[in-house]
Amino acid sequence: MNKVTIAFCLLFALGVPSTNAKEVLVADIAAYQAVLSQVQPGDTIVLQNGEWRDFEILFEGHGTAENPIRLAAQTPGAVHITGQSNLRLAGEYLEVSGLVFKNGYTPTSSVIAFRKDAQHLANNSRVTATVIDGFNNPERYENESWVVLYGKRNRFDHNHLTGKSTQGVTLAVRLNSEQSQQNHHRIDHNYFGPRPILGSNGGETLRIGTSHYSLTESNTIVENNFFDRCDGELEIISNKAGGNQYIGNVFYQSRGTLTMRHGNDTLVENNIFLGNNADHTGGIRVINKRQTVRNNYLQDLKGYRFGGAMVVMNGVPNSKINRYHQVEDSVIENNTFVNSDHIQIAAGSDFERTAVPVRTRFTNNLIYLESQRDPFTIYDDVSGIEWRDNLTNTKVDPRIAKGFKSEQFNLVLAENGLQYPSKNSAPRLIGVSGDISVLDKSHTGVDWYAKPDQKPRFDHGNTHTVQPGLDTLVNAVREAQDGDVLVLAAGEYQVSRVIHLNKAITVKGPASKDVVIQFERATLFELNEGGSLKLDDVRISGSAAPDSAGNSVIRTHRRSMLHNYELVVENSEILDLNVNHSFNFLTVTKGTFAQRIELSNSRFSNITGAILGLDQEHDDFGIYNAEYVTIDQVVFESIEGDVVDYYRGGTDESTFGPHFSMTASTLTNVGNGKRNKSGSSVLLHGVQVTTLQGNTIVGSASLQINHTVGEPVTRVINNRFITTPKPEIRELYSDQTDTAEMRGNTYQSAE
Ligand code: CA
Repeated sequence: MNKVTIAFCLLFALGVPSTNAKEVLVADIAAYQAVLSQVQPGDTIVLQNGEWRDFEILFEGHGTAENPIRLAAQTPGAVHITGQSNLRLAGEYLEVSGLVFKNGYTPTSSVIAFRKDAQHLANNSRVTATVIDGFNNPERYENESWVVLYGKRNRFDHNHLTGKSTQGVTLAVRLNSEQSQQNHHRIDHNYFGPRPILGSNGGETLRIGTSHYSLTESNTIVENNFFDRCDGELEIISNKAGGNQYIGNVFYQSRGTLTMRHGNDTLVENNIFLGNNADHTGGIRVINKRQTVRNNYLQDLKGYRFGGAMVVMNGVPNSKINRYHQVEDSVIENNTFVNSDHIQIAAGSDFERTAVPVRTRFTNNLIYLESQRDPFTIYDDVSGIEWRDNLTNTKVDPRIAKGFKSEQFNLVLAENGLQYPSKNSAPRLIGVSGDISVLDKSHTGVDWYAKPDQKPRFDHGNTHTVQPGLDTLVNAVREAQDGDVLVLAAGEYQVSRVIHLNKAITVKGPASKDVVIQFERATLFELNEGGSLKLDDVRISGSAAPDSAGNSVIRTHRRSMLHNYELVVENSEILDLNVNHSFNFLTVTKGTFAQRIELSNSRFSNITGAILGLDQEHDDFGIYNAEYVTIDQVVFESIEGDVVDYYRGGTDESTFGPHFSMTASTLTNVGNGKRNKSGSSVLLHGVQVTTLQGNTIVGSASLQINHTVGEPVTRVINNRFITTPKPEIRELYSDQTDTAEMRGNTYQSAE
């Protein structure tokens, strides 16, 4: 071999970028496919700016480490993939960047898959600076994932994923063949934007592995990602494989926890959890062996039970692979908890989960609560945990108190935005380190696609005055923009057609309530995608509705809906829904979901159906129709059906809701109609949090509360029951007796 040849070989071995690399601009799908068939290492295929509709991109090729094959947007962010589209990568050293998936959905089970099929995977490949925004199948419970990583050593970074509202994890790492195990993927600097409450299991933002492969290593690194209001379900992250690392991520106002559901040897380090005191914001849940939770900062988290700021679970002895493995040989150290309400130890202890944590230590942690309330709940024997050198300003459960120094100290805000004990008040070795940096949202995702901010649902737009008459309300709604307020002048409003709402609208009458709305179709308002409604100071009468069964003042779209809606009724009167039988106030469709329904300071009377029929998910799949239902100071009189028929079936424990509260309300002659199948005035089945307080219930059918799973919290306090049976509370699957808190209620046979 002569010197020139050797030099040449060396150049090749070192992988000098190919001088023949081409950059080819393509303008349509046929051109893309033609170029792809000839692509060489180092080449770049550039998609021309504009809309690419119904484009199922197969990006297959074999690049090299130094000469990857690239697929790029002509201008990042200006290539929109719409309609029935997706992306599959197969081969080696591929890189995709700059695409935006929106206004469509995938015909397959994923939007981006790192494989062509089960035999052809992608390795050493990368998807970066790509956006998926609301690219949802219109069927809410058609399970799909947006991104699925297969193969090995792939990287998914600087992407922006927002608005996933179908069932199925946003980003999944699969280990379902040997070619995808010990994969060493890297998931970093992504922006995971708001994921609304799903109302079922399957709302995880990130999942690695499945229970089936959970004793196999994935060795994936999840680093410097921003999770913004990822509220889908109980698990923000569901870790189900071994050897993964979660480092430097921020969880901002996200319901749920980073859950080490299955798999061993996980590292959770330098993460920041900021709950903003929002309901069900949680931290870290520990299950399995050799888990390390170190130097994390957790502030203003309100979650409890499996959703607490720190949850160490009990396991099942000799657990099956899909149940709960015992916590063993794990470390929880140098974490800081600030105003985070709940730390749960040996959580889930029951007749099945009896294996308590062992050979585990909880050391050098700092716990501060302004309330000085003990945040710990201890459900079982915790002597298998070594408690040492922790510092707190709270009282601590005597069973673990010797592991804590309990004293008064103050916190001060440091430059990194986190709070630390004031100088000299605590040794520096306790709690999170001083040099931890907090990832800024702007360093994640892409800078050319706006990250969604928070705005209120109602009343953020303009105000329009509406005059009484025929269909003046219909026209006003049609012209209105999202967030607008329609102020009705006194008088009568006739509505001859269904008002379809695809925006949030407030309909407000005069304080005199001198407004009557009558409607001539089977429904007055139909909530469509994006629709929400607030009624304030109005009177709605059903007397002009058609003489047929099953009318409803408000109904949801006849089909599944992706957007969670809100319905608020205040200072209003709803009457005479009685032209025929089964006339409801609200009727919902299977596959629809209310974020909240609030009725307050209002009156409902002479109604032949139910007020809120939230009972369409009767398959017992753990799905339900509304997250929060709140009734305060409402009078219900002569209602043949239920005030609410609220149903969440199934036995999984993956949702925080439903929630129900009824306070200071009066029910008179409610639930006695012969067509009322439940035979109750209020039916709550599988509701997780219930408050019934200060109500007066007269001559009505009984309240029925069926407890299913998840240790539901039910409080029935200071209610008066007059010629009304006592509430019936049933424990359907639990071995425990009635767990409801019942006090201060009175029962009278007649006034
Ligand atoms: Ca789950």
